[in-house]
Amino acid sequence: MKPAAFEYHAPASVQEAVGLLAELGEDAKAIAGGQSLVPMLALRLAVLDHLVDLRRLEELRGIEQRDGGVWIGAGTTQATIQRSAEVGRGVPLLARATPLIGHFQIRNRGTLGGSIAHADAAAEYPAVALALDARLEATSPRGARTIAARDFFQGMWSTALQADELLTGVLFPQWGPRSGFAIEEFARRGGDFAIAGAAVAVQLDTDDRIARCGIGLFGLGQAALRATTTETQLTGSAADVPAGDVGDSAMAELDSVPSDLHGSADYRKHVGAAMVARAWERAVQEAGVQEASNA
Ligand code: FAD
Repeated sequence: MKPAAFEYHAPASVQEAVGLLAELGEDAKAIAGGQSLVPMLALRLAVLDHLVDLRRLEELRGIEQRDGGVWIGAGTTQATIQRSAEVGRGVPLLARATPLIGHFQIRNRGTLGGSIAHADAAAEYPAVALALDARLEATSPRGARTIAARDFFQGMWSTALQADELLTGVLFPQWGPRSGFAIEEFARRGGDFAIAGAAVAVQLDTDDRIARCGIGLFGLGQAALRATTTETQLTGSAADVPAGDVGDSAMAELDSVPSDLHGSADYRKHVGAAMVARAWERAVQEAGVQEASNA
């Protein structure tokens, strides 16, 4: 199928783009890499009168050290993130998640902001943003604001962004010494969206206790989720807690796991527990081998 006819807009600045979104209202949407929106338009899951193309907006691109973390412009492609030494050093969890997104052709066009704003429940980046406590920067004609990742994802393809608001960048705070990161997912074929997955960040204190942790889940709800109760229980406990228990505990928090042709809710929980356990084990191991002085 082909998309229904739409009018194409190519603003030259973020201010112009948000002005257009405000003026055109609900019949308009931003388009970044088009890797989620174009299939939805082609299948007529979405019908829009106006598309506001973000690709000319240099302001939305870039990777830099800022405010104690790594700032990445929303329009930065997933391929650029994958190649970035800055991301590899400063946000290893994001670097490790990126090759799991689709195929390289998709990553060449797909953007960080597109993935986060689209908020697919099975996407990797939203779970990474949750696990790392990322801060999402948004701009509208009313000004700029920052939204904590935990307040951003609201449900299936639904976020805290207003219709005339653009995601401009994401700040991934740097975790301290003795931190470890891992992402695990299960998909039927490489490049498919995951049936279930987990992104884990752990920081140990000098007594090998868990100083801080983040467990982001994907494919296991209506949106990316964070296993907050499990995180709270783990914080302060010894790092050698059995990984299987962490997986089971994270799954026990879930109340509405999807059931579809890719797998029943029970199957997803079974897989999800294993993904959390594996990611937890690897993250703790990585945190443990780092010297406390290795900031
Ligand atoms: P677009 O498709 O252009 O836009 C998506 C949505 O985000 C739209 O609603 C748009 O209005 C909004 N948007 C975009 N940018 C902004 C912004 N700056 N501010 C506010 N709103 C914005 N993704 C995964 O995570 N994991 C996978 O395994 C995966 N596999 C895929 C396999 C295939 C075959 C395909 C086609 C896609 C796959 N994707 C996967 C999706 C891919 O990662 C997309 O790149 C991503 O979901 C959307 O990014 P985009 O830049 O293409 O956004």
